[in-house]
Amino acid sequence: LKRQARAYDKAARPVKLAAVLGAGIMGGGIAYQSAVKGTPILLKDIREEAIQLGLDEAAKLLGNRVEKGRLTPAQMAEALNAIRPTLSYGDFAQVDMVVEAVVENPRVKQAVLAEVEGQVGADTILATNTSTISIDLLAAGLQRPENFCGMHFFNPVHMMPLVEVIRGAKSSEAAIATTVAYARAMGKTPIVVNDCPGFLVNRVLFPYFGGFARLVAAGVDFQRIDRVMEAFGWPMGPAYLLDVVGIDTAHHAREVMAAGFPERMKDDGRSAIDALYEAGRLGQKNGKGFYAYH
Ligand code: NAD
Repeated sequence: LKRQARAYDKAARPVKLAAVLGAGIMGGGIAYQSAVKGTPILLKDIREEAIQLGLDEAAKLLGNRVEKGRLTPAQMAEALNAIRPTLSYGDFAQVDMVVEAVVENPRVKQAVLAEVEGQVGADTILATNTSTISIDLLAAGLQRPENFCGMHFFNPVHMMPLVEVIRGAKSSEAAIATTVAYARAMGKTPIVVNDCPGFLVNRVLFPYFGGFARLVAAGVDFQRIDRVMEAFGWPMGPAYLLDVVGIDTAHHAREVMAAGFPERMKDDGRSAIDALYEAGRLGQKNGKGFYAYH
């Protein structure tokens, strides 16, 4: 994987300043990871409290590293300064690379991407952290689709090495190469994959969630399934993983996967994910999902 990633070095543009749109679970993690690895980043959201939560989370992660002796307090202050919170597009003309990490909804993403494209320079690379939505669908409203590709991180961003870099039909070599280089600068392991709903990892993961949901619908206790999958050797079971991902995000992603691969997801029916979503149980982000969190 590392050799494949290095092959893109020549076509990469420098990323001196990055930006992330959306300061939620993923946006906050991306800002932290970029800052701690030395690339300053603007953190933009439409809600002040989301930005504050993102900054608090980054401060907590940095504090943990100081406690473990992996970072000095001065390095922690430097990393925190490298995250520049904003509610506006004021400084976006200077940005080399934008990662969009707003809600998993194609219409919202298309609108946000078109908006930010109007604020950045002609060479700025735009990438989306979508979990499942086709890159070509999201590129449809852009003036410069050649500057656009996918950059799919996994949760929690600071712990998960893999980043899927997704090549859309119109993505240029420079867009792919710059995104690969930025992922490596963040200490990640990028893989370049072609565009389709769910890309690589979620094409594997969502049929697994479907299998889980069918067992729950058949009356099997979700906690029992989690314990069994942990004993099988996975770090966590599907119910806990769905709570970590966010039930709303999983719900939206599942709809995209069901539309993209109806033959694989057809027996899924109305799953436990939909029931929790409708009940407003969004997982760890609001303290209640399959499990309750305090
Ligand atoms: P989240 O709900 O935690 O955060 C989304 C954030 O986007 C919120 O803070 C919201 O205020 C903000 N937002 C909404 N509209 C905006 C706009 N116009 N401009 C700026 N900010 C805006 O969601 P998340 O879990 O961080 O997911 C974000 C994206 O990352 C989704 O596309 C999701 O599929 C993808 N993703 C999620 C995971 C996961 O495990 N949660 C993993 C990989 C990828």
